[in-house]
Amino acid sequence: MTRKERAQKAIAALRVAIPQPETELAYTDPFELIVAVALSAQCTDERVNKVTPDLFARFPDVQAMADTTPEELFPFIRSISYPNNKSKHLVGMANMIVHDFGGDVPSSIDDLVKLPGVGRKTAQVVASVAFDVDALPVDTHVFRVSNRIGLAENANTPTKVERQLKAALPQADWSEGHHLLILHGRYTCTARSPKCASCNVSPVCRYFKKLQALPQTLNGLDKKRGKYYCKTRKHYFDVPDEVSDRAGTVQLACPKCGSMNVFVTATGHTTKRVKDYRV
Ligand code: SF4
Repeated sequence: MTRKERAQKAIAALRVAIPQPETELAYTDPFELIVAVALSAQCTDERVNKVTPDLFARFPDVQAMADTTPEELFPFIRSISYPNNKSKHLVGMANMIVHDFGGDVPSSIDDLVKLPGVGRKTAQVVASVAFDVDALPVDTHVFRVSNRIGLAENANTPTKVERQLKAALPQADWSEGHHLLILHGRYTCTARSPKCASCNVSPVCRYFKKLQALPQTLNGLDKKRGKYYCKTRKHYFDVPDEVSDRAGTVQLACPKCGSMNVFVTATGHTTKRVKDYRV
């Protein structure tokens, strides 16, 4: 399967799983959006949504935020990560919007990145969500999920992932793809414990395929020494334990160490069951 085919199949599957792929940040206009996106760096959308109602009530437009000081703004965002820096950036950003852009949030990525505290990722999110610009910002979720599924290969920087994703997906799918991959990474393909068993992308996921690969047959086992062989402790035994793996599949395990890396001595085959993709 080519990367393009994989990407298009993965996006099609995600469309089914996530019928409304859109940002979870609460906002009502481009200025509120850019503030919320800037606040969400290294922070969860949920936490940002808790502080923005009071923040926007006190500073209802770009002029009000430009007229304040970082010290005055700080208490409204103190529970967000890096509140000192973000206070300075928000006031600086509002000032630049007022003085250099006539009070309107610029719509192009090139102009957005000129604003204090606005990097390429924030600029792309704002351009895509507020102004329908075809953009594909790569955050931590998009980065991880793209590499896992195989939408990007050997891509060790967000820029490389972005380039490969853009090559694999039609331009019209970039913005939607970005939201789909973020939400997939946030709720299903999570960093520590991806929910592969309930993931509808699994048929095209490279990581899943790799996890499903069963260990190779072991040659040269001595069946006179026992019916089973534990590769972890390197010993033979006749009566295995039965345990449930993390996917709930019952597996044979070594009675001595509990390892599921067990082989049938007569054939050299693993006793792992196919669904046992995370043993
Ligand atoms: S199968 Fe697992 S690793 Fe692959 S996309 Fe789904 S959750 Fe992520």
